Amino acid sequence: MFNLDMFFSGDEYPPNVRETKATVALSPSRLPGLDFALNPYQGCSHRCTYCYAPYITRQPVDEWGCIISAKMNLPVLLDRELPRNRGMIGLGTVTDPYQPAERVVNLTRRCLEVLVKHRAKVSILTKSPLVTRDIDLISKLNDSEVGITITAMDSNRATIFEPYSTPPSERLDAMKILSNEGVSVYALIGPIIPTITDFRLDEFLDSIRDTGASIVMVDRLNLRPGMDIRLLKRMKEMDPSSLSILEKYIKDREFYNDIINRIRNLCENRDLEYRDAF
Ligand code: SF4
Repeated sequence: MFNLDMFFSGDEYPPNVRETKATVALSPSRLPGLDFALNPYQGCSHRCTYCYAPYITRQPVDEWGCIISAKMNLPVLLDRELPRNRGMIGLGTVTDPYQPAERVVNLTRRCLEVLVKHRAKVSILTKSPLVTRDIDLISKLNDSEVGITITAMDSNRATIFEPYSTPPSERLDAMKILSNEGVSVYALIGPIIPTITDFRLDEFLDSIRDTGASIVMVDRLNLRPGMDIRLLKRMKEMDPSSLSILEKYIKDREFYNDIINRIRNLCENRDLEYRDAF
């Protein structure tokens, strides 16, 4: 299905966004370093080919991102829940809180206003430069951080599996803007994908260091049933010359270990702290 909201520039909701109500705002999180998870949207119109969120939320993979549910009562719930739930809150653990709908719906921004009011600790994860719109609020959050996901440095490579996200260069610019404003920023390199992430890896790490970020997290490819077939199909359509390499290494544990070791060494040489994600 064609993703309409990427091309929506008015001040009304994109046509695939539906208002909904949540029963709770904060859910306990088992992710490392996080106590709670906060996800303003269900569904994500970035529609990355490697996304495993549909498996977590038990949604049909083919329909993921076609309809976006905006949990409009989340700021009110959050205001009620925050006094009795202290700890690090992961904003965007399942879906991207700065996906295109947020430009108009402003739901993540309204949640941030409440988080600032309660002096909460927040870890935001996104692959959208829209996060810089809220720098006024984010910079008021103490002990907080923003992670920007980047799968590859090269725009043409990244587009293969992230057809509706902004180019990596814009994400790097966003990291620089946040960092210059004193916000703690990290790069999440992930998921590692053969022929995508390992392309010009030295330059990739140089670009991250130059943003002022001090931490690099690395995430492995989380292959769920049928995902390898979708990735290979997409590669065949977008870059047939890389198909055989992807086929050869997509399930090769040694390949991933080798890339991770290379990234770890490159981080060391650049005074970047390396961390395994999730
Ligand atoms: S941005 Fe994240 S949640 Fe959205 S489709 Fe991509 S991987 Fe899934």
